[in-house]
Amino acid sequence: MIDPSQSTKIIGIRVKKASLTGLVLGFVMLVCLSLIFMDGWRSWTARKNQLQEAEVSTANMARAIAQHADDTIKAADTALLGIVERIQADGTSAPALERLHKLLVRRTSQLAQLKGLFVYDENGRWLVNSLPAMPENVNNADRDYFIYHRTHQEDKPYIGLPIQSRSSGAWVMTVSRRINHADGSFAGVALASIDIDYFNKFYDSFNLGKNGAIVLVMERAVLVTRRPLLADSVGKSMVNTTVFKESRSKALGIFTVNSAQDGVKRLNSFRHLDKYPLFASAALSEQEILAEWLADTYLHSTGVGILVLVLSSVGFYLVGQIKLRVDAEAESAAAKDAMQRLNLALERLSLQDALTELANRRNFDIILEEEFNRAIRNSSSLALIMFDVDHFKRYNDIYGHVAGDECLKEISQAAKSCQRRAGDLIARYGGEEFAVILPATDVEGALLIAENIRLAIQKLAMPHAANATGVVTVSAGVEAIIPLRELNKPVALIEAADMALYVAKRTGRNRVCRNESLTKTA
Ligand code: GH3
Ligand code: MG
Ligand code: MG
Repeated sequence: MIDPSQSTKIIGIRVKKASLTGLVLGFVMLVCLSLIFMDGWRSWTARKNQLQEAEVSTANMARAIAQHADDTIKAADTALLGIVERIQADGTSAPALERLHKLLVRRTSQLAQLKGLFVYDENGRWLVNSLPAMPENVNNADRDYFIYHRTHQEDKPYIGLPIQSRSSGAWVMTVSRRINHADGSFAGVALASIDIDYFNKFYDSFNLGKNGAIVLVMERAVLVTRRPLLADSVGKSMVNTTVFKESRSKALGIFTVNSAQDGVKRLNSFRHLDKYPLFASAALSEQEILAEWLADTYLHSTGVGILVLVLSSVGFYLVGQIKLRVDAEAESAAAKDAMQRLNLALERLSLQDALTELANRRNFDIILEEEFNRAIRNSSSLALIMFDVDHFKRYNDIYGHVAGDECLKEISQAAKSCQRRAGDLIARYGGEEFAVILPATDVEGALLIAENIRLAIQKLAMPHAANATGVVTVSAGVEAIIPLRELNKPVALIEAADMALYVAKRTGRNRVCRNESLTKTA
């Protein structure tokens, strides 16, 4: 059985364990979560920065491409303006055309982007060009730029659809201007063909990664060129592309979209040309943009993962150690308690007579000493009764030793029943002799109690054939003293009571006698 104080202590230790382990666990979890959170935050910010950098980079590319296209077309258009003016001023006589031819050749060689310069009359026939020889019987009246200028009077360059050159077979983009007669009527078309490869070479100087792309698109939703170039890129319709739809409402913009062509997710930047109806777009694959970030994140995550693992292992180890220690503390407290209880039991046993369960001689000596000193301090009377079973040797002889033991037990119980105060002590003094210590009791009071004991034992009516009364009786001697320090000793009280007991025996047994020797001296 665990007594309440012990269980309170053990519960206290368990509460301490719970709060300590909780604290350590909480701390470890907090550190781990902080690590994870901080790394997550760092990674998220790094991703955002990487994407922002890519946005700036694609926007810069789009601006450079648009600027390059603007400049390329502008140079061709400037050349056309000169040609138109020359024809309108000099006419189309053979010498004039001869001079013009030389000019066209020179211009074409000056401008790297130019594939050729051409002049057609109002019927689409070739008048002059920059080629070394004039092809026979060719007519360009069916080309869209020719039809456009014939039907539009405005003095503006016209950007034609990408076409495959009839002279060289290469893909070209055309810029053309209308030539008027003096009266303003249609006199023909001056045309510059720009080599699309010229754009491609420039675009090849950009680092687009494996899945990046650059496109130059006409506002009429026709693709001029693309990097990397796909089989059917040039001249392809862009009507259904996201980049075209996005470009319709804004001069420039950035968006991310999964490509309808190859499924690659790209960050796109587009920008319209300042002077001509085209726009350029540069795109980088999101996977490639984030590749470095991803590798970095894997590395960090692994590091943080290992750190978290180590931290939690250390945490759990600590918690285990705390548990072991607290359990050991609880065990030690329980063992200490058990030891204390054992000691108490041993002490009680060491002070108790095994047969009668009364206080034993040792206990009697201790208590008598204590009560004697108390009586000295309080100047109070201390009484002692000594009683002894009459003819007990004979009792043993007649009824046997076992019956003798039983008899002593009965006598003890009877004497115990006569105890009036908690402070009184009934002890087995030795053999069949008993003693009763009565603190704060004078000799009269002690005589009364002794008589009660004697009668109580007699009343038990335990047969004793060798006793005069036929039953077991006791004789008692009583003495009381108000002891004085230095003068009296406990042993004197015992001797005096014993003396009175001797008198009781001598004068017939089964009686109580007092000794007045000490009372008198006190
Ligand atoms: P008296 O009336 O003069 O006291 O005579 P008595 O026979 O009682 O006195 P005595 O001192 O001659 O004998 C005491 C006897 O008590 C001797 C012993 O065998 C017996 N006795 C002492 N202790 C025990 C005990 O624990 N059990 C039993 N059964 N007998 C005991
Ligand atoms: Mg006796
Ligand atoms: Mg005796």
